[in-house]
Amino acid sequence: MAAEDPSVHSATPPAQANAAGQRQRKKPQTPSARKTSTASSASQTSKISDKLARLGLRTDMDFLLHLPMRYEDETQVLGIREAALRGGSQVQIEGKVLSADVQYRPRRQLIVTIADDSGQATLRFLNFYGSQLKQFSAGARVRARGELRHGFAGPEIVHPSYKMVTQGAPLPTALTPVYHTAEGISQPLLRKAIASAIMRSEWRDTLSPARLAALGLQGFEASVRLLHNPPPEADQYSLLERHHPAWQRMKFDELLAQQLSLKRAQQTRRRQGASALPLVGELSNAFLLTLPFSLTRAQEKVLAEIRHDLRQTFPMQRLLQGDVGSGKTIVAALAAAQAIDNGFQAALMAPTEILAEQHFRKIAAWLEPLGIRTVWLTGSLKKKDKEQASAQIANGEAQLIIGTHALIQDSVQFKKLGLVIVDEQHRFGVGQRLNLANKAEAGKIPHQLMMSATPIPRTLAMTYFADLEVSVIDELPPGRTPVLTRVIDQQRRDEVIVRVHAAALEGRQVYWVCPLIEESEALQLQTATDTHAMLSAALPDVRIALVHGRLKPAQKQAVMEDFSRQQTQVLVATTVIEVGVDVPNASLMVIEHAERFGLSQLHQLRGRVGRGAAASICLLLYQSPLGGTARQRLAIMRESNDGFDIARKDLELRGPGEFLGARQSGEALLRFADLETDQPLVEKARNLAEELLRDDPVTVAAHLHRWMGNKEEFLRV
Ligand code: ADP
Ligand code: MG
Repeated sequence: MAAEDPSVHSATPPAQANAAGQRQRKKPQTPSARKTSTASSASQTSKISDKLARLGLRTDMDFLLHLPMRYEDETQVLGIREAALRGGSQVQIEGKVLSADVQYRPRRQLIVTIADDSGQATLRFLNFYGSQLKQFSAGARVRARGELRHGFAGPEIVHPSYKMVTQGAPLPTALTPVYHTAEGISQPLLRKAIASAIMRSEWRDTLSPARLAALGLQGFEASVRLLHNPPPEADQYSLLERHHPAWQRMKFDELLAQQLSLKRAQQTRRRQGASALPLVGELSNAFLLTLPFSLTRAQEKVLAEIRHDLRQTFPMQRLLQGDVGSGKTIVAALAAAQAIDNGFQAALMAPTEILAEQHFRKIAAWLEPLGIRTVWLTGSLKKKDKEQASAQIANGEAQLIIGTHALIQDSVQFKKLGLVIVDEQHRFGVGQRLNLANKAEAGKIPHQLMMSATPIPRTLAMTYFADLEVSVIDELPPGRTPVLTRVIDQQRRDEVIVRVHAAALEGRQVYWVCPLIEESEALQLQTATDTHAMLSAALPDVRIALVHGRLKPAQKQAVMEDFSRQQTQVLVATTVIEVGVDVPNASLMVIEHAERFGLSQLHQLRGRVGRGAAASICLLLYQSPLGGTARQRLAIMRESNDGFDIARKDLELRGPGEFLGARQSGEALLRFADLETDQPLVEKARNLAEELLRDDPVTVAAHLHRWMGNKEEFLRV
């Protein structure tokens, strides 16, 4: 049994039990709901296990691996006066209740005043039960924890966690674990459930003592026990910061499981087989000859890697990374040419219609003169056109198919799909790629080339894409002049308009990107329309066009075509131009509210200029005042033109979670390890994964079973 009485804690409403560190605040149960839930103990047990299951806690191992999210230091009580001096930090105080009142203004709340020898403090509860009011009878002794702030009536803690104690009640001697939990599951309940799982558990280490010694890691059992119940002498700092050897072991295991499962998924795909596309034939050669430039060394290198993969009888799974403007499209088109040379179809999928269209126009212009039938397929095609495209895809007439995710709809049947190219792969969901993979000949999957212009630093790539080969184009085509970037206060808009005018008079072209307004597409559209009107009024002698996501595809195409033919000089755009637009004569880019964009997005946008010989400028307008991080981020943009460098710095500022956005498969897999700070562990895990997959299937199975349970189904195959 735990030393403390859990019933004391569970008097706290759920909103408080998990308030700290929890992202969402749930509505507390009403007192009446609470009463009815105690009616039948059997149904309550099943309710609790349902709730636990929703937290992913079913088996004993699930409980063991439900490691503390953080720890609370309840080992000290501060005098109220001293605690007040530390304002803002987490403190624990103890005192006698002077008064407890329910107030109704500005809203119903319970105000408890306590005092110790040094002073008084207020405990404020915005959600509470009637029973709590009784608990806080005058003279009762309460120990409360939370952030002590200076309120209206002196120091106060809003929603403290607390317990009623007797005078001189002993303090815990070790850190108290705090678990991720959900409404209706109190911390004490979770602690008890975990303690009993620990008691029942059979401890088997998935790694042998010899291996552990070689890796410098400690045992699984000892680590798990320590993390749930840190002994008083454990180093608190390293526990809180997760450097402790026990954490190291858990992180290592987690990373190992992730590497094993990604690599095993890769092996499974390999076993499925693919048609070899060995021939670099007439089309490929003719295509290279017609290009007005020669490939860069970096393009040659990645092309060789792709060609090598395409010769194999198992599917290529390659991620092609390259900065904006590094020339990925041509490499993709050459890969497609090789598939076609071998009598197969190739498909290219892009995340937006505009991008797909750009690819289509560009690649069709390259390949159609060489006799290749290129077909365009998106969701917005007229029914008749869609049917016609589908028929050509099915009968094999279409050799290269370019489009949006309409390509993966079930109704689209390919005659002989050999290669799938996915541009901006990070924007597609995992499942979408999976569907496309099912479109090859029976028993086979097509070769896959993923392209990304959001460069992923090496550590991340190693971990998140352990199942992919990675090629990098690390050089830009010659003759590019770096884009000069300036960060400018929005208030100086008039000066910016003067520069736009000057550029237009010199025959150059300008993009004006409107602010990203995530919460409202309508508002974003409105802003773009207003900006267009404002610029048109200010510059009557300049031809100004507007493009945004609500335009019909044909309208959009017309606007883009006018701009690339220099019929219009300024293009006011919402973020739809982010990717793929290629107008070399454009040399000035204005981005409004640059502080709202992600760095890689800004870099993408900026990549739309600097494509021709003219020196290009990017003006990042911001709304002052700028916060510290926002200032730093814009400074990164000003100082660097290198997408990899920017990505690395962005990662330092934001951390990997935000940086990667949601990559479902990867995210589900890493709860404890931090890709940045745990890099040495990542490398060890990677090496061991390779070794185990080669010669220790029993350990692989045991380790995956322990760590993944049934989560592996989330991984793409
Ligand atoms: P991204 O990698 O951003 O997709 P693109 O494939 O759109 O880049 O290429 C950017 C521009 O560079 C295009 O206009 C393309 O025709 C041109 N380009 C690509 N490769 C070369 C090269 N080796 N030499 C000169 N220009 C090139
Ligand atoms: Mg591109």
